Amino acid sequence: MPGASGAFCFEREADLFMLDETLMLSSGDDDIARAGEILKNGGLVAIPTETVYGLAANALDGTAVRAIFEAKGRPQDNPLIVHISSLDQIDGLVSRFPETARALADAFWPGPMTLVLPKSAIIPDEVTCGLDTVGIRFPKSECARRIIDAAGVPLAAPSANTSGKPSPTCAAHVFDDMFGRIDAIVDGGECSVGVESTVVYAADDGDPILLRPGGISAEMIAGVCGSCKIDENITSDMEATGAVMSPGMKHKHYSPNAKITLIESDFDAYKDYVEKNMAPGTAALCFDGEGQRLCGIPYFEYGAVDDPKSQCRKVFSMLRRLDKAGVDAVYARCPRRDGEHLAVYNRLIRAAAFRKIKL
Ligand code: AMP
Ligand code: MG
Repeated sequence: MPGASGAFCFEREADLFMLDETLMLSSGDDDIARAGEILKNGGLVAIPTETVYGLAANALDGTAVRAIFEAKGRPQDNPLIVHISSLDQIDGLVSRFPETARALADAFWPGPMTLVLPKSAIIPDEVTCGLDTVGIRFPKSECARRIIDAAGVPLAAPSANTSGKPSPTCAAHVFDDMFGRIDAIVDGGECSVGVESTVVYAADDGDPILLRPGGISAEMIAGVCGSCKIDENITSDMEATGAVMSPGMKHKHYSPNAKITLIESDFDAYKDYVEKNMAPGTAALCFDGEGQRLCGIPYFEYGAVDDPKSQCRKVFSMLRRLDKAGVDAVYARCPRRDGEHLAVYNRLIRAAAFRKIKL
């Protein structure tokens, strides 16, 4: 299967087959039509997007949306993102589409960016958890857009993982978490971005505010709007700062079973530290090409040191592999915080429960 991390492989023997209650679907036309039917009828389907796999339901059906929270074990105060397949669909979903938001949509849609906008009455409270704003995304993934078209409705879709676990970047990850809990999984291969969308508050006429970093960086947003504020909770611990603009940021996130510690240093200091603190059950999470320079330590590599795109693509599957390998403790190389690196830092500092050592 494309994108499998070695953990599990599906053998497609027939055009369509069923594993207990969860259908495994391809991105072929018949299977996409089938996914659309399930969604129209209030079911749950995991769908590929360019960011991560989403767990989709009809965004206009509060009962279907509630089932997403149940399948994931998602906290009831963490709102969902609504996915559309063309820009004109946004009109019925928002009460206002401010100029700043329009400029961002022109620049980055379709693509890995969610705009938080004032919601219209048609959006059920189940989607927004009672907020008067709604997150909207127009994905670039052709497969995701074909599924939205087949369903004929906008789709509410959070990441298709068990709440708190690393987000899924291939169908095998979804299978591991969601098998038997949802109606179907559409296998569209590996996600090209690999981290969840950039979330931008653009509900009023003020400067846009980055609520969650992703494939579209704060610098790219500032390039369009002149400036971009960064919500302080992106890099700091919610419990310490208190305020909540993006409810998702306060919840436990991306947590492997292993205890991760980020080491902020150059490679030589990292190597010294890891070699001194090595113990049974400990592993290194480092950049490509670095693992073999560590003396006999089990290692996992999560992308090239100066290439945030490659880090985004690998970070979640490496967190899942750590757990498959039964690792207890991990010393991770700390990513940079500029540009798209911030998305990787944000995920890893949370996976590390904010444990960081500066050398
Ligand atoms: P997920 O669906 O798992 O990718 O998470 C969705 C993210 O978008 C969470 O961090 C939410 O807090 C954020 N989000 C969704 N809707 C809103 C909203 N109306 N206002 C602020 N943040 C939102
Ligand atoms: Mg998520």
